[in-house]
Amino acid sequence: MSGHLQSENYSLRQQLESLLHEARRNEDKMRRFDQLQRQLIGADSLPELIRLLLSEYKLAFGVEFVALALVDHEYEITRILESECDKTDCGGLTLHPSTAPLEALYQGRTGPSLGAFDATIHQALFDSAPGEIASVALLPLMRHGELIGSLHFGSADPGRYAEGCGTDFLERLTEIIAICLENALSQEQLKLLGMTDALTGVNNRRYFDHRCQIEVSQSRRQRRPLVCMLLDIDKFKRINDTYGHQTGDDALMSTAAAIQSQLRAGDTLARFGGEEFVVLLPHTDMHPARQIAERIRCCIAAKELHAPNGEPINLTISIGLSLLPVENHTAKNQALIERMLAAADKALYRAKHEGRNRVVCDDSLPDEAAPAGPAISPKHLLKTAQKAALAALNILKRTLALSK
Ligand code: GH3
Ligand code: MG
Ligand code: MG
Repeated sequence: MSGHLQSENYSLRQQLESLLHEARRNEDKMRRFDQLQRQLIGADSLPELIRLLLSEYKLAFGVEFVALALVDHEYEITRILESECDKTDCGGLTLHPSTAPLEALYQGRTGPSLGAFDATIHQALFDSAPGEIASVALLPLMRHGELIGSLHFGSADPGRYAEGCGTDFLERLTEIIAICLENALSQEQLKLLGMTDALTGVNNRRYFDHRCQIEVSQSRRQRRPLVCMLLDIDKFKRINDTYGHQTGDDALMSTAAAIQSQLRAGDTLARFGGEEFVVLLPHTDMHPARQIAERIRCCIAAKELHAPNGEPINLTISIGLSLLPVENHTAKNQALIERMLAAADKALYRAKHEGRNRVVCDDSLPDEAAPAGPAISPKHLLKTAQKAALAALNILKRTLALSK
């Protein structure tokens, strides 16, 4: 074989090997893509999907930095994340109340844009990135012609997302992620609908049961107080009987709105059933909780409600408060929840019994369950009792001496 043929043969072999290498790389990439796609489609909640996007993609494709921006018009995603996951789970996620920042980023482009990292444009997108980024890929997430979010990849390798690189793979990924996000959001909306009271628009009992578990776990873990408030409208039956059910319904809606207006963002309000509501106040001690309860009571009593015939309706509410019993480290959450609710119910019963339109705090908990101060020894108790008995004896002696 001539030297010329030999070198041509060698070059062809090299080309073939390089093509085979490329094909294997693509096959491997497609396999990982397929795996990730299955995970994304299988995500059973929005927080899980977000977690997959922010962490699994990095692992599967060796991308150094991944950030996600989502449009959250009605603060719906904010509420879902607050109620379902720890904020720390969502590093790398930014929520925008409008599409404006993302529209400014893409300026009408609907496909992935690749290029060198430019701090003036990209720094804000990778706020939490701990290292140097050399090239970026920005993927607009679109549904029905609207931007719903944007996924950002950052690499320390300037060639990884160089301008002009093929984007077929990223385009396919973008489409799948956008569909998964839309689906997850619809699922969450359905879940929320099933957890909302249709009349008053506040959470229902089912949501309360779910939320209560989360609040109690957090309160125990962080060793912070949690107050439970049960609220029951006074003599509500009379409103129905006198003015009809529709006026009763209006009064319920107005009461729910009045309670909500006095609560903080992290508090939970739910309709407990009938004309009863329940509130959870995390990170709150009994004293401030009592002030909040008083505010609610006054707000409802001061509200001007009118029957269809124009007659003013006086509406008042009774409120019972209890603290989460935290002394028992081994008790199950459910057992503590039941005790906390029973104690609030007992306090509410007292409020009704003592004349209604009032706030009563459960007083059994400080002995039984308040975070106890230093333990008192029996010896100390005996000494205190002896001192008290001596003092009483002295008073008795002096009284006897005076009466002589
Ligand atoms: P108390 O001060 O002791 O709480 O008296 P009350 O009349 O509020 O309590 P009672 O339990 O006797 O009556 C509650 C009433 O609430 C009876 C029920 O018809 C009414 N109710 C419960 N749910 C609704 C509702 O969704 N709409 C209307 N209009 N009324 C409701
Ligand atoms: Mg009742
Ligand atoms: Mg009532």
